[in-house]
Amino acid sequence: AKDAGRNTLRLFLPSMQHVANERLKTLNDLRKGIEHSEFITFYQPQYDQNGCMVGAEALLRWQHPQKGLISPDNFIPLAEESGLIIELGAVVLETALSNLYSWIDSKQAPLSFQISVNISPLQFLQDSFVLKIKEALKNTSIAPSNLTLEITESVLLDNAKLAMEKIHALRDFGVQFSIDDFGTGYSSLAYLKQLSIDEVKIDRSFVRDILIDDSDAALVETVINLTSRLRLDSVAEGVETAAQFSFLKNLGCTRYQGYLFSKPLPLHEFKALLLSQKNL
Ligand code: C2E
Ligand code: CA
Ligand code: CA
Ligand code: CA
Repeated sequence: AKDAGRNTLRLFLPSMQHVANERLKTLNDLRKGIEHSEFITFYQPQYDQNGCMVGAEALLRWQHPQKGLISPDNFIPLAEESGLIIELGAVVLETALSNLYSWIDSKQAPLSFQISVNISPLQFLQDSFVLKIKEALKNTSIAPSNLTLEITESVLLDNAKLAMEKIHALRDFGVQFSIDDFGTGYSSLAYLKQLSIDEVKIDRSFVRDILIDDSDAALVETVINLTSRLRLDSVAEGVETAAQFSFLKNLGCTRYQGYLFSKPLPLHEFKALLLSQKNL
């Protein structure tokens, strides 16, 4: 048995080495990518019940010189583990806010236009988080009420008290908060009452099967009912069909995002879409 164990160990080493090497390579690539400004921000519009564009979510992309456009699922986990997400997060925030400033300034977007930015747990847990958000807003002359920060429930698990203090501090300042991927984690409906937040984002895994899976439909209905009772916004993510849209509308969902309306777009395409809106 001892020998077998040794053999197993021997067989394992090269592949572990390989994984470690790959990781190191990607990490170096990530660092270089940040240095060379290879990270860009896409925008996916959000609509109200009448089909008016009322905001957009900023979504990170990596324009890799050799590999082309890389989606966040392929680098966010490593950026999170390595701490580089702090720098990346700052880039997205600054880009999104300064773009929003120019849209509003040129009257391409209404004064109330909302920009939603994803905040990683590591970013949120930083001591300087509240200060950094306030500074980014001041630097770009954006009103705090135009910014929605999307956080996941996982940030509340470690130190709920401290997390709530940060949320309170920023909400007092005027910033809005959204709970992202609602229903996928340790979500508890009770949280919604305790937390002072502005909206709940229904994860697209629930929206996807809303017309074919009764339990998904029931869950979404419950969340929408509760958010409306609490006077919070409910945002459905991943709306792909007109049938999903009308089903959600009947449930009273307040906002919509998904391929039915638009995929996440690079800046110039998003600006063209803004210009084509008649509701400004
Ligand atoms: P998320 O925050 O849940 O973002 C929604 C994802 O759903 C986006 O994927 C979006 O492109 C996709 N999506 C939207 N509508 C539809 C639809 O109708 N059908 C389908 N199939 N997909 C749809 P994306 O852009 O690849 O981002 C993936 C995840 O990466 C995000 O999930 C978020 O967790 C993370 N991420 C993206 N940008 C950032 C960022 O700047 N900071 C941080 N910390 N995370 C980010
Ligand atoms: Ca999000
Ligand atoms: Ca999601
Ligand atoms: Ca709101």
